[in-house]
Amino acid sequence: MDLSNRLTRGAWAPMLVALILSCGTQDEGTSSGPTGTTGTGGAGGSTTGTGGAAGASGATGTTDGGRTDGASGSSGAGGAGMGGAAGMGGGTGMGGGAGMGGGAGKDGGAGAGGGAGADGSAGKAGGAGTVGDSGTMPDVSMPPRPDVVADTLPPPGDGSYDDLIRELVARFKPAEIEPRYRALEAMSLPNRKTGTANYTAATDWVKGWLATEAPSLAVTYDEWSTYRNVEIKIAGTDPTAGMYVMGGHLDSVAATPGMDDDGSGSLGVAIIASAMSHYRYKSEIRLILFDGEESGFLGSIHYAQALLASGCQPDTCMKLFINMDMLGYDPRDTGSIRVLFDLAAPKMVAQQVKGYIAGLTITEGTGNCHSSDDCGFSRNGYPNAGELFEPVSNPQRHTAADTCDGMNFPTLNKALQLGAAMMATMAGIHSRAP
Ligand SMILES: [Zn+2]
Repeated sequence: MDLSNRLTRGAWAPMLVALILSCGTQDEGTSSGPTGTTGTGGAGGSTTGTGGAAGASGATGTTDGGRTDGASGSSGAGGAGMGGAAGMGGGTGMGGGAGMGGGAGKDGGAGAGGGAGADGSAGKAGGAGTVGDSGTMPDVSMPPRPDVVADTLPPPGDGSYDDLIRELVARFKPAEIEPRYRALEAMSLPNRKTGTANYTAATDWVKGWLATEAPSLAVTYDEWSTYRNVEIKIAGTDPTAGMYVMGGHLDSVAATPGMDDDGSGSLGVAIIASAMSHYRYKSEIRLILFDGEESGFLGSIHYAQALLASGCQPDTCMKLFINMDMLGYDPRDTGSIRVLFDLAAPKMVAQQVKGYIAGLTITEGTGNCHSSDDCGFSRNGYPNAGELFEPVSNPQRHTAADTCDGMNFPTLNKALQLGAAMMATMAGIHSRAP
């Protein structure tokens, strides 16, 4: 570990301000009316942020606008990295709001900013400040981005955002995830098609090892007709901060054990849940293993429709859906993952956390419906959806050859690290779980 590559605040804060401002502009262009407001909110956010940051940093916080405040806030928290978390949240929220096209701006900015402040007890107060949705954009400071992370062990814990993300990412190891995937494959022969005993056994297996390995997680079955999603929840510490949702489909077609499509993403979501269970977040986190994707996105359609019927709006409640479908095929060992969203925010966050994941490269793309469960969300009230995807689409998809032997576990591990770090950052990770 080398903390020397952390930039000083004086060096990175202006850069981040510029980055956020430019993102805000992009969001305005792609957002709907409310979004436009969001963009404006971004500016106003400074004011709101001031409130939040002030709460975190105290005297320092009030000196400058919300942006500078964010940085100050971190200091106040006692850890630069921590402040970074807050700032990051702000940036994320902002982008999220904008991208969502909803009045999201307020939520995104506010929620995120709040998260940032949340680090310190004072930070909570900052969250309150966030409530003033008008501002929308609390602070725009973001944590310093390491250029290289060659070590796999986290540094001595100082509780900062930087520290928590390094620690979270280090929980994923290729040699440890592979046996778990091979265990799933063993119970998926000849397939893991919806409605089969193999499918049901796989859901029970996931729920079982999660109960042992991550007992703090709330894991339930979401059942209807003959179908069953597995839903995993991590409660947020701020009930007004909305939720971030990630999912992958556990079912396969009849001809295959479906390990890349989509054992990689669905089991990955459960592995991510286990790793993330060790921390606390401002926003609620939901991780779903979907049924019936191969029959027409049935599980995600069912889930999204029920969520919308419950009154959960895309701007204030369901902040972002990240689909995880096919992440383990990388025959040339590129270590690359595609980050496919119409929204600017998740791409910005992916670029930010990339530095924590050794050997990872990112290719950005667009869209909110990629022939998978992100369509279940984007077509049913939540346009703020997208996915992570392997560098090359697996030619063995939907054939008996889609097995663990055809997968690149180091690359899959990077994809899971990226997904976890993105969710943790956007949801406002702020401390270790007790
Ligand atoms: Zn699939």
